[in-house]
Amino acid sequence: MLTVNAYAAPSASEALIPTTLERRDVGAHDVLIEIKYAGICHSDIHTVRGDWGPQSYPLAPGHEIAGIVTEIGPEVTRHKVGDRVGVGCMVNSCGECENCRKGEEQYCLKGMTGTYGAVDRDGTITQGGYSTHVVVAEDFVVRIPEGIALDAAAPLLCAGITTYSPLRHWGAAPGKRVAVVGLGGLGHMAVKLAHAMGAEVTVLSQSLKKMEDGLRLGADHYFATSDPVTFEELAGTFDLIINTVSAPIDISSYLQLLSLDGALVNVGAPAEPLPVNVFSLITGRRSFAGSAIGGIRETQEMLDFCAEHGLGAEIEVIPADKINDAYERVLASDVRYRFVIDTSTLG
Ligand SMILES: [Zn+2]
Ligand SMILES: [Zn+2]
Repeated sequence: MLTVNAYAAPSASEALIPTTLERRDVGAHDVLIEIKYAGICHSDIHTVRGDWGPQSYPLAPGHEIAGIVTEIGPEVTRHKVGDRVGVGCMVNSCGECENCRKGEEQYCLKGMTGTYGAVDRDGTITQGGYSTHVVVAEDFVVRIPEGIALDAAAPLLCAGITTYSPLRHWGAAPGKRVAVVGLGGLGHMAVKLAHAMGAEVTVLSQSLKKMEDGLRLGADHYFATSDPVTFEELAGTFDLIINTVSAPIDISSYLQLLSLDGALVNVGAPAEPLPVNVFSLITGRRSFAGSAIGGIRETQEMLDFCAEHGLGAEIEVIPADKINDAYERVLASDVRYRFVIDTSTLG
């Protein structure tokens, strides 16, 4: 066992504090990663605060991990010491079910193992990336190409793949009109990626406050959803809408913005059910769908795509003692566009 420094929540109602965690010994197929940067995802906050169900504490969140391999198990073939690597939202899956065999481990029929707060196959509770080191099975570790700085790469492991996967699945490409709802951590990556895929990109944001940023990140158009005229003007115009907002929105009025056969894909997850007016689906053969992160193979493809197109997340790097402040700022949507913890400040 390796004792490592970390930042963890002692309970659902307390702020995160400096602490130590035990990492398992490096097994035959494991790699030990010295974490350099860990992104702060909105899910981290929901999870540690128990919004998505009871947790086991102390809990160190963090599933946007970028670092360097410092040790490998004797049977590891995919990575070597010194490699720049990343770990995203999952660290294990059954490897045998239909979905795992397709490389869609995130949809493992037995349930993938989350990077933190999940029961690992050895019975221990996983602990995330707000930490100096992590031990992960080599199959769940991806390579970060030289072209992307490690700090800007970290958020790609969740925000990047969560938006890349549906853009690919629903065919974002030249000639396709893609709308992105919400310009936050996920939304800003959706804009960059859809633009790099050649699609015509529109941001649908509550206000025009971030319009300049949106256009700089690659959007062709920017509309305020607080203005009812937006919904009249854009009716029937999009092939694909990626909804990154996890607060409830009026899905039916967004569905009306889709063209024939268009799809609205939720990547944000509101805790409450969303009502849908079925007429807004059947009057245009439209789909309302959801998508969760991406498989390991696709996560690697996304990182390679980002390197090829010079993409990374827009980040604000913070020391560990600013994590709790950063949480408040994330909740207030006061971040452009992702906080990344410099893990060398964990002590
Ligand atoms: Zn996340
Ligand atoms: Zn499986």
